[in-house]
Amino acid sequence: MARTAIVTGGTRGIGRAIAEGLKRNGCTVTASYAGNDDAAAKFKEETGINVLKWDVGDYEACKAGVAEIEAAQGPTDILINNAGITRDGFFHKMTPAQWSEVIRADLDSVFNMSHQVFPGMRSRGFGRIINISSINGQKGQMGQTNYSAAKAGMIGFTRALAQEGAFKGVTVNAVAPGYIGTEMVAAMDDKVLEKIVGQIPVGRLGEPSEIADCVSFLADDKAGFITGLLTLSSGKAITTV
Ligand code: NDP
Repeated sequence: MARTAIVTGGTRGIGRAIAEGLKRNGCTVTASYAGNDDAAAKFKEETGINVLKWDVGDYEACKAGVAEIEAAQGPTDILINNAGITRDGFFHKMTPAQWSEVIRADLDSVFNMSHQVFPGMRSRGFGRIINISSINGQKGQMGQTNYSAAKAGMIGFTRALAQEGAFKGVTVNAVAPGYIGTEMVAAMDDKVLEKIVGQIPVGRLGEPSEIADCVSFLADDKAGFITGLLTLSSGKAITTV
Protein backbone atom coordinates (compact mmCIF):
# COMPACT_ATOMS: atom_id res chain seq x y z
CA MET A 1 0.00 0.00 0.00
CA ALA A 2 2.17 2.91 -1.23
CA ARG A 3 0.14 5.70 0.35
CA THR A 4 1.05 8.85 2.26
CA ALA A 5 -0.16 9.32 5.81
CA ILE A 6 -0.21 11.83 8.64
CA VAL A 7 -0.77 10.62 12.21
CA THR A 8 -1.42 13.41 14.70
CA GLY A 9 0.04 12.67 18.12
CA GLY A 10 1.91 9.87 16.41
CA THR A 11 5.07 9.86 18.51
CA ARG A 12 3.72 8.14 21.62
CA GLY A 13 1.07 5.67 22.77
CA ILE A 14 -1.66 4.61 20.37
CA GLY A 15 -0.54 7.09 17.69
CA ARG A 16 2.95 5.62 17.68
CA ALA A 17 1.59 2.11 17.15
CA ILE A 18 -0.62 3.42 14.32
CA ALA A 19 2.28 5.23 12.62
CA GLU A 20 4.43 2.09 12.84
CA GLY A 21 1.60 -0.09 11.53
CA LEU A 22 1.02 2.14 8.51
CA LYS A 23 4.75 2.20 7.77
CA ARG A 24 4.87 -1.60 7.94
CA ASN A 25 2.08 -1.63 5.35
CA GLY A 26 4.21 0.41 2.95
CA CYS A 27 2.97 3.94 3.67
CA THR A 28 5.16 7.02 3.86
CA VAL A 29 4.24 8.45 7.25
CA THR A 30 4.79 11.65 9.23
CA ALA A 31 3.87 11.78 12.91
CA SER A 32 3.00 15.08 14.56
CA TYR A 33 3.43 15.94 18.23
CA ALA A 34 2.84 18.86 20.59
CA GLY A 35 5.97 19.51 22.60
CA ASN A 36 7.62 16.38 23.98
CA ASP A 37 10.81 16.66 21.92
CA ASP A 38 12.57 13.80 23.72
CA ALA A 39 9.81 11.30 22.97
CA ALA A 40 9.67 12.51 19.36
CA ALA A 41 13.43 12.19 18.88
CA LYS A 42 13.42 8.69 20.39
CA PHE A 43 10.50 7.70 18.16
CA LYS A 44 12.25 9.03 15.05
CA GLU A 45 15.48 7.24 15.90
CA GLU A 46 13.75 3.94 16.62
CA THR A 47 11.31 3.93 13.69
CA GLY A 48 12.83 6.12 10.97
CA ILE A 49 9.46 7.90 10.71
CA ASN A 50 9.49 11.68 10.17
CA VAL A 51 8.15 13.92 12.92
CA LEU A 52 6.88 17.50 12.97
CA LYS A 53 5.86 19.61 15.97
CA TRP A 54 2.83 21.86 16.01
CA ASP A 55 -0.37 22.38 17.99
CA VAL A 56 -3.27 20.64 16.24
CA GLY A 57 -5.67 22.94 18.11
CA ASP A 58 -4.37 25.87 16.04
CA TYR A 59 -5.87 26.08 12.53
CA GLU A 60 -3.07 28.13 10.97
CA ALA A 61 -0.44 25.86 12.49
CA CYS A 62 -2.22 22.85 10.97
CA LYS A 63 -2.25 24.56 7.59
CA ALA A 64 1.50 25.21 7.78
CA GLY A 65 2.24 21.73 9.18
CA VAL A 66 0.32 19.90 6.47
CA ALA A 67 1.88 22.10 3.74
CA GLU A 68 5.37 21.26 5.02
CA ILE A 69 4.60 17.53 5.15
CA GLU A 70 3.02 17.51 1.70
CA ALA A 71 6.01 19.35 0.21
CA ALA A 72 8.16 16.47 1.48
CA GLN A 73 5.99 13.38 0.98
CA GLY A 74 3.28 14.43 -1.48
CA PRO A 75 -0.50 14.87 -1.12
CA THR A 76 -2.07 13.17 1.87
CA ASP A 77 -3.97 9.92 1.27
CA ILE A 78 -4.54 8.97 4.92
CA LEU A 79 -5.16 11.22 7.93
CA ILE A 80 -5.35 9.77 11.41
CA ASN A 81 -6.77 12.29 13.90
CA ASN A 82 -5.30 10.72 17.01
CA ALA A 83 -3.84 13.58 19.10
CA GLY A 84 -5.73 14.09 22.32
CA ILE A 85 -5.44 15.17 25.94
CA THR A 86 -7.42 14.85 29.14
CA ARG A 87 -7.99 17.50 31.82
CA ASP A 88 -10.23 15.55 34.17
CA GLY A 89 -12.30 16.96 37.01
CA PHE A 90 -15.83 16.85 38.36
CA PHE A 91 -18.03 19.27 36.48
CA HIS A 92 -18.82 21.48 39.47
CA LYS A 93 -15.10 22.09 39.86
CA MET A 94 -14.17 22.20 36.16
CA THR A 95 -12.62 25.46 35.04
CA PRO A 96 -13.35 27.07 31.67
CA ALA A 97 -9.68 26.41 30.80
CA GLN A 98 -10.05 22.66 31.49
CA TRP A 99 -13.10 22.60 29.23
CA SER A 100 -11.67 24.58 26.34
CA GLU A 101 -8.21 22.98 26.33
CA VAL A 102 -9.77 19.57 25.77
CA ILE A 103 -12.31 20.74 23.18
CA ARG A 104 -9.51 22.51 21.33
CA ALA A 105 -6.98 19.66 21.30
CA ASP A 106 -9.46 16.78 20.88
CA LEU A 107 -12.24 18.21 18.70
CA ASP A 108 -11.20 21.50 17.04
CA SER A 109 -8.12 19.58 15.86
CA VAL A 110 -10.32 17.21 13.87
CA PHE A 111 -11.79 20.13 11.92
CA ASN A 112 -8.41 21.86 11.63
CA MET A 113 -6.66 18.81 10.17
CA SER A 114 -9.45 17.31 8.07
CA HIS A 115 -10.04 20.72 6.48
CA GLN A 116 -6.48 20.74 5.13
CA VAL A 117 -6.66 17.35 3.41
CA PHE A 118 -10.31 16.64 2.54
CA PRO A 119 -10.54 18.87 -0.59
CA GLY A 120 -7.46 17.22 -2.13
CA MET A 121 -8.68 13.72 -1.28
CA ARG A 122 -12.02 14.55 -2.88
CA SER A 123 -10.47 15.84 -6.08
CA ARG A 124 -8.07 12.87 -6.37
CA GLY A 125 -10.89 10.39 -5.68
CA PHE A 126 -9.20 8.66 -2.75
CA GLY A 127 -8.89 9.35 0.95
CA ARG A 128 -9.03 7.80 4.38
CA ILE A 129 -9.77 9.86 7.49
CA ILE A 130 -9.81 7.90 10.75
CA ASN A 131 -10.71 9.61 14.00
CA ILE A 132 -9.61 8.16 17.32
CA SER A 133 -12.58 8.79 19.58
CA SER A 134 -13.14 6.95 22.87
CA ILE A 135 -15.60 4.64 24.53
CA ASN A 136 -16.17 7.56 26.92
CA GLY A 137 -17.58 9.59 24.03
CA GLN A 138 -20.24 6.90 23.66
CA LYS A 139 -21.17 6.07 27.23
CA GLY A 140 -19.98 9.22 29.06
CA GLN A 141 -17.57 9.10 31.98
CA MET A 142 -17.89 10.92 35.27
CA GLY A 143 -15.06 13.42 35.72
CA GLN A 144 -14.75 13.75 31.97
CA THR A 145 -17.58 15.97 30.74
CA ASN A 146 -15.06 17.85 28.58
CA TYR A 147 -13.42 14.72 27.13
CA SER A 148 -16.72 12.83 26.69
CA ALA A 149 -18.20 15.82 24.85
CA ALA A 150 -15.19 16.15 22.55
CA LYS A 151 -15.05 12.43 21.80
CA ALA A 152 -18.82 12.28 21.14
CA GLY A 153 -18.39 15.28 18.84
CA MET A 154 -15.85 13.32 16.82
CA ILE A 155 -18.42 10.60 16.23
CA GLY A 156 -21.01 13.03 14.84
CA PHE A 157 -18.33 14.64 12.70
CA THR A 158 -17.31 11.23 11.35
CA ARG A 159 -20.82 10.23 10.37
CA ALA A 160 -21.55 13.57 8.69
CA LEU A 161 -18.29 13.83 6.74
CA ALA A 162 -18.57 10.17 5.72
CA GLN A 163 -21.73 11.10 3.82
CA GLU A 164 -19.95 13.97 2.07
CA GLY A 165 -16.91 11.91 1.10
CA ALA A 166 -18.47 8.58 0.15
CA PHE A 167 -19.21 9.25 -3.51
CA LYS A 168 -15.75 10.78 -3.98
CA GLY A 169 -13.81 7.77 -2.69
CA VAL A 170 -13.08 9.33 0.70
CA THR A 171 -14.01 7.17 3.68
CA VAL A 172 -14.31 8.63 7.17
CA ASN A 173 -14.42 6.29 10.15
CA ALA A 174 -14.00 6.44 13.91
CA VAL A 175 -12.36 4.01 16.26
CA ALA A 176 -13.44 4.38 19.87
CA PRO A 177 -11.01 2.41 22.01
CA GLY A 178 -11.74 1.15 25.47
CA TYR A 179 -8.92 1.54 27.98
CA ILE A 180 -5.49 1.05 26.42
CA GLY A 181 -2.23 0.77 28.34
CA THR A 182 -0.57 4.10 27.49
CA GLU A 183 0.79 7.03 29.51
CA MET A 184 -2.68 8.64 29.42
CA VAL A 185 -4.10 5.66 31.33
CA ALA A 186 -1.02 5.25 33.55
CA ALA A 187 -1.79 8.75 34.87
CA MET A 188 -5.09 7.51 36.34
CA ASP A 189 -5.65 6.75 40.01
CA ASP A 190 -4.79 3.06 40.70
CA LYS A 191 -8.10 2.32 42.44
CA VAL A 192 -10.16 3.86 39.61
CA LEU A 193 -8.14 1.90 37.06
CA GLU A 194 -8.61 -1.37 38.96
CA LYS A 195 -12.37 -0.82 38.96
CA ILE A 196 -12.36 -0.05 35.25
CA VAL A 197 -10.32 -3.15 34.35
CA GLY A 198 -12.83 -5.20 36.35
CA GLN A 199 -15.55 -4.02 33.95
CA ILE A 200 -13.65 -4.82 30.74
CA PRO A 201 -15.03 -8.05 29.26
CA VAL A 202 -11.62 -9.36 28.21
CA GLY A 203 -10.30 -8.59 31.72
CA ARG A 204 -7.29 -6.49 30.74
CA LEU A 205 -6.26 -3.18 29.20
CA GLY A 206 -5.90 -3.15 25.43
CA GLU A 207 -2.56 -2.87 23.66
CA PRO A 208 -1.85 0.11 21.36
CA SER A 209 -1.04 -2.39 18.59
CA GLU A 210 -4.59 -3.78 18.81
CA ILE A 211 -5.99 -0.34 17.93
CA ALA A 212 -3.31 0.14 15.26
CA ASP A 213 -4.30 -3.09 13.51
CA CYS A 214 -7.91 -1.93 13.30
CA VAL A 215 -6.81 1.47 11.95
CA SER A 216 -4.51 -0.17 9.38
CA PHE A 217 -7.43 -2.19 8.10
CA LEU A 218 -9.69 0.89 7.77
CA ALA A 219 -6.87 2.82 6.05
CA ASP A 220 -6.25 0.10 3.49
CA ASP A 221 -7.37 0.40 -0.15
CA LYS A 222 -9.45 -2.76 0.47
CA ALA A 223 -11.66 -0.96 3.04
CA GLY A 224 -13.26 1.34 0.45
CA PHE A 225 -16.80 0.15 1.20
CA ILE A 226 -16.58 0.90 4.92
CA THR A 227 -17.46 4.45 5.88
CA GLY A 228 -19.22 6.21 8.75
CA LEU A 229 -18.38 3.24 10.95
CA LEU A 230 -17.83 3.55 14.67
CA THR A 231 -15.69 0.69 15.83
CA LEU A 232 -15.70 0.13 19.54
CA SER A 233 -13.20 -1.84 21.47
CA SER A 234 -13.87 -3.86 24.57
CA GLY A 235 -16.21 -1.65 26.49
CA LYS A 236 -18.78 -2.92 28.95
CA ALA A 237 -21.47 -4.74 26.98
CA ILE A 238 -20.18 -3.28 23.74
CA THR A 239 -18.79 -5.12 20.75
CA THR A 240 -15.09 -5.87 20.71
CA VAL A 241 -12.94 -4.90 17.69
P1 NDP B 1 -0.72 9.84 24.79
O1 NDP B 1 -0.92 10.83 25.86
O2 NDP B 1 0.13 8.63 25.07
O3 NDP B 1 -0.13 10.57 23.47
C1 NDP B 1 -0.76 11.71 22.99
C2 NDP B 1 -0.10 12.19 21.72
O4 NDP B 1 -0.83 13.33 21.23
C3 NDP B 1 1.33 12.67 21.93
O5 NDP B 1 2.10 12.41 20.77
C4 NDP B 1 1.15 14.18 22.11
O6 NDP B 1 2.32 14.94 21.78
C5 NDP B 1 0.04 14.44 21.10
N1 NDP B 1 -0.71 15.67 21.36
C6 NDP B 1 -1.46 16.00 22.43
N2 NDP B 1 -1.99 17.23 22.30
C7 NDP B 1 -1.56 17.70 21.10
C8 NDP B 1 -1.72 18.91 20.40
N3 NDP B 1 -2.46 19.92 20.89
N4 NDP B 1 -1.10 19.06 19.20
C9 NDP B 1 -0.34 18.06 18.67
N5 NDP B 1 -0.17 16.87 19.29
C10 NDP B 1 -0.74 16.70 20.49
O7 NDP B 1 -2.18 9.43 24.33
P2 NDP B 1 -2.80 7.98 23.98
O8 NDP B 1 -1.92 7.27 23.05
O9 NDP B 1 -3.22 7.33 25.24
O10 NDP B 1 -4.15 8.42 23.23
C11 NDP B 1 -4.18 8.68 21.84
C12 NDP B 1 -5.60 8.98 21.43
O11 NDP B 1 -6.43 7.88 21.77
C13 NDP B 1 -6.17 10.19 22.16
O12 NDP B 1 -7.00 10.93 21.28
C14 NDP B 1 -7.00 9.57 23.26
O13 NDP B 1 -8.04 10.41 23.66
C15 NDP B 1 -7.51 8.32 22.58
N6 NDP B 1 -7.89 7.26 23.50
C16 NDP B 1 -6.98 6.73 24.38
C17 NDP B 1 -7.38 5.72 25.23
C18 NDP B 1 -6.43 5.11 26.18
O14 NDP B 1 -6.87 4.25 26.96
N7 NDP B 1 -5.15 5.46 26.20
C19 NDP B 1 -8.73 5.17 25.22
C20 NDP B 1 -9.60 5.80 24.25
C21 NDP B 1 -9.18 6.80 23.43
P3 NDP B 1 3.51 15.14 22.90
O15 NDP B 1 4.20 13.81 23.02
O16 NDP B 1 4.37 16.19 22.32
O17 NDP B 1 2.82 15.53 24.17
